[in-house]
Amino acid sequence: MTATRTRVVYVGGTGRSGSTVLANVLGEVPGLVSVGEVRFLWERGILQNRLCGCGDHFADCPFWSKVLDRAFGPDDERRAEDRSTTARRMCRSLAERTRMRSLPSQVGRRQRAIDPELATTLGRLYEAIAEVAGAEVVVDSSKLPTYAVQLADVPSITVQVLHLVRDPRAAAHSWRRRRAQPDLGETALMERRGAAKSAVLWRIWNTALERMCRSRGLEYRLLNYESFVADPRGELRRLLRGFALLAPSQLDPVLDELFEAPDVVRLSSNHTVAGNPARHHHGSVALVPDDEWRDRLGAADRRLVSVLTWPTLPRFGYRARV
Ligand SMILES: [Zn+2]
Repeated sequence: MTATRTRVVYVGGTGRSGSTVLANVLGEVPGLVSVGEVRFLWERGILQNRLCGCGDHFADCPFWSKVLDRAFGPDDERRAEDRSTTARRMCRSLAERTRMRSLPSQVGRRQRAIDPELATTLGRLYEAIAEVAGAEVVVDSSKLPTYAVQLADVPSITVQVLHLVRDPRAAAHSWRRRRAQPDLGETALMERRGAAKSAVLWRIWNTALERMCRSRGLEYRLLNYESFVADPRGELRRLLRGFALLAPSQLDPVLDELFEAPDVVRLSSNHTVAGNPARHHHGSVALVPDDEWRDRLGAADRRLVSVLTWPTLPRFGYRARV
């Protein structure tokens, strides 16, 4: 176990909620580094060698090479086990502990129950990310509630959970859209999901994340995507202050530097390991509401999503009728 704990801000919730952009905006704050959906590092990074946010393939990215060398030693023939063997084992171990079936047993659990090897590997990995980036806080947008619990169980990691929620009708529309996935080649498309599946997962994941954080006493903040894009600077300021990510005297100078206009941020290149294609955007990026669903999501799908999510809608700030 390390002497100091690695601090992780975990962006949790469901897909297509704007977590990629939010995490990358956070990564611009001094002392914070945004590295994408770290739970996919083993599969999409090490085994599949997909693109890093910087545009290099994972194996060629100098940032991740340094991180892995620092965490696990150089990947050469003298090692007892090569990196892909470790990665395959981590994939299996994480898949078993983060799958849907494990949810009921994890929701009310208060005790740490992590596998010691998983704890050591994740502890080393996040510590190395912080060290190589020269950051005090690692921003991980892995989203999955069950992975948040695994991280919270690592003795050398402290997790603060930022729960990002978006109107389930907007998320359902986004899951149906055809969008390119440059990670997998020029003609590849992102995964698509029907309205019913999107709505059911929205309800299960969001409810589970909130309950898990409460039962485990994790530091937690809820943020609605719609509030964030309506007032990005104000919401970011509240978040940085609420999680004590910056000294109060630093808040305005840092935000002045980051925001070119009330709804435009300047993003630099990043080393995000997986996530929405928006992670490759840098330079001046506008944070504008995406409410295409109001015109494009049909009445039947809108009703279906509302019915499947209605018991939890008010809890997250949404109305059943839209
Ligand atoms: Zn990179």
